[in-house]
Amino acid sequence: MDVKIIFLTIHVFITCINGQSYMYDVYEGAVIPAVTHWGYGDYNGPEEWPELFPNKCAGKYQSPVNIRPRKTKFKPNLSKFIFYDPPYWGARYFAHNNGHTIQVNTWGLHLLANGGLNHTYRIAQFHFHWGDENDQGAEHTVNEKAAPMEMHIVSWNHEKYESIKDAAKAPDGLAVLGILFKISHRDNPLFEPLIHAIPSIRDPDWNNQVEIAVVPIRNYLPHSPEKYFRYRGSLTTPRCYESVTWTVFREKQNISKRQEASVHYQGVAGTVPASPIALPWQKRR
Ligand SMILES: [Zn+2]
Repeated sequence: MDVKIIFLTIHVFITCINGQSYMYDVYEGAVIPAVTHWGYGDYNGPEEWPELFPNKCAGKYQSPVNIRPRKTKFKPNLSKFIFYDPPYWGARYFAHNNGHTIQVNTWGLHLLANGGLNHTYRIAQFHFHWGDENDQGAEHTVNEKAAPMEMHIVSWNHEKYESIKDAAKAPDGLAVLGILFKISHRDNPLFEPLIHAIPSIRDPDWNNQVEIAVVPIRNYLPHSPEKYFRYRGSLTTPRCYESVTWTVFREKQNISKRQEASVHYQGVAGTVPASPIALPWQKRR
């Protein structure tokens, strides 16, 4: 089989920030602090994060990045991923609104291996990034073009670390899969359970979480998951730890305009939209 895998040697651009004691940890589930002091607005957005979180969001390996496929290098050791991802007995998904994004926490064992990873990683949650009003909500861009939406599947190295909290600070602690979206004519049934849950979680102050149907994580991947970009980077939210082995799939996943709109407009009143991080080329416009 002609497996084409691409390795990214990337120049990582800086944008982020970091850390006070009252900050919300995006990987820790539903609890929201009384003061959510970072966001994506003029006064608390990515450009301000380095001040809000000194010494954290201004490192050398900050994400997201712009991917230039023609500048990537082929790496034969980047094999296909293997998912040990049932649903096993006990697997459950809970969707909530953490004030920054719609996030689904996974219960039960969902494991990720191969794909050039040296360890087995445990999937903890997945969440989404979308734009304020338009079609440019993805964080990673390809040739400086932003897709309308991006999904992040977050996993941690449970072979080496005791908890995701410990792993989040270690260089080989996290592996995140990034899936870019394109608008399709038809609804994508995979995302319907989540779309249906949104009205119940649209206000983060409700502190609601809604159980949704378990779908094997591998089903969320695009059709050719063996084609992907790889680079070393960071969390894209404070504290921006540089602990992420990033995978961004080359092929896009589908979502209909209606589904995307329910995320953008109907479902998230009270949420700070997860706009794309301001990357250098955006600032130049
Ligand atoms: Zn994310």
